[in-house]
Amino acid sequence: MARYTGADCRLCRREGNKLFLKGDRCYSDKCAFERRDYAPGDAGKKRAKESEYRIQLREKQKTKRIYGLLEKQFRGYYNLANRQQGVTGENLLRILESRLDNVVYRLGFAKSRDEARQQVRHGHITVNGRRVNIPSFRVKAGDLVAVASKAKDLLVIKSSLITNARTEVPQWLEVDIEKLQGSVLALPNREQIDLDIREQLIVELYSK
Ligand code: SF4
Repeated sequence: MARYTGADCRLCRREGNKLFLKGDRCYSDKCAFERRDYAPGDAGKKRAKESEYRIQLREKQKTKRIYGLLEKQFRGYYNLANRQQGVTGENLLRILESRLDNVVYRLGFAKSRDEARQQVRHGHITVNGRRVNIPSFRVKAGDLVAVASKAKDLLVIKSSLITNARTEVPQWLEVDIEKLQGSVLALPNREQIDLDIREQLIVELYSK
């Protein structure tokens, strides 16, 4: 699966928001956005004209980048959300949250979604006892996500657990740190997704 390979911090500066893409660094004074909170490039400090389209586009780009997705895949999730019953924007966020790489990150087994994606790809994660190496795999209520027994001693996972002890696991998940596993209690509703995203703007953009 293709993915963005440029500098993560540029994405935060482009979106004018901290997207928390680099784990520990995001919480330190090394955070590039803390030091230069304007867009990258020569025109970065100039104020861009805020058209309706531009605001919608930026919201979509920000969301896409938080979850580390490229346009084609993100659009596919939107189409799926649009076909589901209920509010399309909320459906979209629920689908994004149910990705296995996101769940591994939310459970605190990785410092960032990018790191979680690597862990899944390397076969370090199981779902209901079976190894799953597809980051886009979507969990459902009742699933048990665990660190594979051979990966339990990995330093990267241990250091993630220490780092992430300060962040709360969302209500829709339950983690057992001793066993390095977590359960999906239910898929989240909008209130349980703590991201500053105005998903309605994404819906408006794609509905044009
Ligand atoms: Fe964004 Fe983290 Fe880089 Fe700061 S350190 S600019 S939050 S990716």
